Amino acid sequence: MAERGNGDINVNGRSYRKPARPTVVICYDGCDPRYISHGTSTGLLPNMSRMMSEGFYAIADAAMPTFTNPNNMSIVTGAPPKVHGIAGNYYLDKATGREVMITDASLVSSGTILAALAGAGARVGVITAKDKLRKMLGVGLNGICFSSERACAATRAENGIEAVEALVGRPTPDMYSPDLSLFVLDAGIKLLEAGRSDVLYLSLSDMVQHSAGPGEALADAFNRDVDRRVGRILELGATLGIVADHGMTDKCTPDGEPQVVYLEKVLNDRFGAGAARVICPITDPFVKHHAALGSFVRVYAMGSVPAQDLMDAAARIPGIALVLDGDSAAARYEMPREREGDFVAIADTYSVIGSRPDEHDLSGLNGHKLRSHGGLSEQPVPFMLSRPLTAAYRAVAAGRRLRNFDIFDFALNGTK
Ligand SMILES: [Zn+2]
Repeated sequence: MAERGNGDINVNGRSYRKPARPTVVICYDGCDPRYISHGTSTGLLPNMSRMMSEGFYAIADAAMPTFTNPNNMSIVTGAPPKVHGIAGNYYLDKATGREVMITDASLVSSGTILAALAGAGARVGVITAKDKLRKMLGVGLNGICFSSERACAATRAENGIEAVEALVGRPTPDMYSPDLSLFVLDAGIKLLEAGRSDVLYLSLSDMVQHSAGPGEALADAFNRDVDRRVGRILELGATLGIVADHGMTDKCTPDGEPQVVYLEKVLNDRFGAGAARVICPITDPFVKHHAALGSFVRVYAMGSVPAQDLMDAAARIPGIALVLDGDSAAARYEMPREREGDFVAIADTYSVIGSRPDEHDLSGLNGHKLRSHGGLSEQPVPFMLSRPLTAAYRAVAAGRRLRNFDIFDFALNGTK
């Protein structure tokens, strides 16, 4: 529907215009739409409020499972996980029986919009909070690509930029501080101010959202700090798109205790040791956020008990909303079949699913209530643009379910 001019790029069957003015997309990690509605109704977010009234705002759906890596990859490829191959942070390699942490881009099976824009001559910058994500998002990219976690170590050879601390004017932030995200935004602003970037993808961390909900002091202060930086990006004349990789929900009993189904333990207690293995794809080195507990797990039948018997039992456990065999889950949620379990289990809104108690250290929660994501309840995310849509894209937005991975299409092709 967009008119195609010279220099348009094609990625995964969709075409994108090279931007006429600097274009910035922020992945506001874990920004549940309830933070936005709270922030706009209380005046915490004046700049995002202005984007919503002058540009465009909708609620879009994240890709399943609603975890950080699959959704960041979807946003930068414009495609669901079955196309780019990343369906979690952690998986069981069925051929070897080994559990594997995804720490680099070796499993990424598609090109990115960012790499293609850079290939077409745009100056592209990618800044992430976590370094692990940086390696995936930067696949094939000729441009600037670094993380705030490892800002001090950025080199021209590896990251396309050096002296990042001097650029931003402060040292590399602590990996468990809100500044891990604010540093990302400030670095992006410095690149814009210096006229060094045509396209920026700024991917934040969800540390704050795991710790505090809308109206809590930590979250309100953080979101206000993000909004100020949004104001600066708008002042610099960029087209700005904001989406999230997933929402965030309290996963608690009514008295505030973590509401956890230890699915592997429940199944093995019933069917015998070694009957089932539960893989939690949220598992990552940032365990303090969530104790590796999310609302989506993959389950493998490891012994002689048929998967169907395990599925039937799992589906009857309180806190589990949906159980699907691997084929059905991959088809319904457009996930790569080769990384799917024998079945998946999805928790209800207020529950998470773990494997066994000894695999989840809840002490890192430090007294805050467990908030997490991964399931269907965290699919709705904000989808915000600083400029009004063209008539053609207004029709698209009215006609179908928007996905968070439509954001580059809308920002590059669909705004006035
Ligand atoms: Zn996230």
